[in-house]
Amino acid sequence: MLTMEDVVREGHPSLRKVANEVSLPPSEEELSLLQDMLEFLKNSQDEKVCAKYNLRPGVGIAAPQLGIEKRMIALHFEDISGKLFSYGLFNPKIVSHSVEKAYLTVGEGCLSVDRNVEGFVPRYARITVKATDLEGNAIKLRLKDYAAIVFQHEIDHLNGVMFYDHINKENPFEIPENSKSID
Ligand code: ZN
Repeated sequence: MLTMEDVVREGHPSLRKVANEVSLPPSEEELSLLQDMLEFLKNSQDEKVCAKYNLRPGVGIAAPQLGIEKRMIALHFEDISGKLFSYGLFNPKIVSHSVEKAYLTVGEGCLSVDRNVEGFVPRYARITVKATDLEGNAIKLRLKDYAAIVFQHEIDHLNGVMFYDHINKENPFEIPENSKSID
């Protein structure tokens, strides 16, 4: 199983690279890695397993965070209405997005960042993502608010972008233009 020791931190070059497309169907190794990434998130949200293995709770992880420069992300979380989003995705791509932005009032965190970085991270309020799931299905997801933010954070990792790159340097808590706040 994956643990925090497998997660690379700030300064690792993989976090700043544009990751490579996975040629589909994925290899057995790629498929099993993506399954492990999803399992890692579930474990990290399980109080007992989390404590036992000293995991940091996470809702998303991208392969470059394991030092593997491939376009693979896993996500596991519930939105405010209790809807479960649990996916392992190959080659996720944002195919359209709203003009309106959204940001989390508490800011964002990252398993690869061992410090608190304060400030609002402007994201698109709504996105449509195309990807291939763990079963090999081509899927299309319409996401909004919190879910849209989590997916954008993970997809950014595939392009070498960290959440704090989006924070306004002069005024980290400046309200992004045309945006809604998400608590
Ligand atoms: Zn992250």
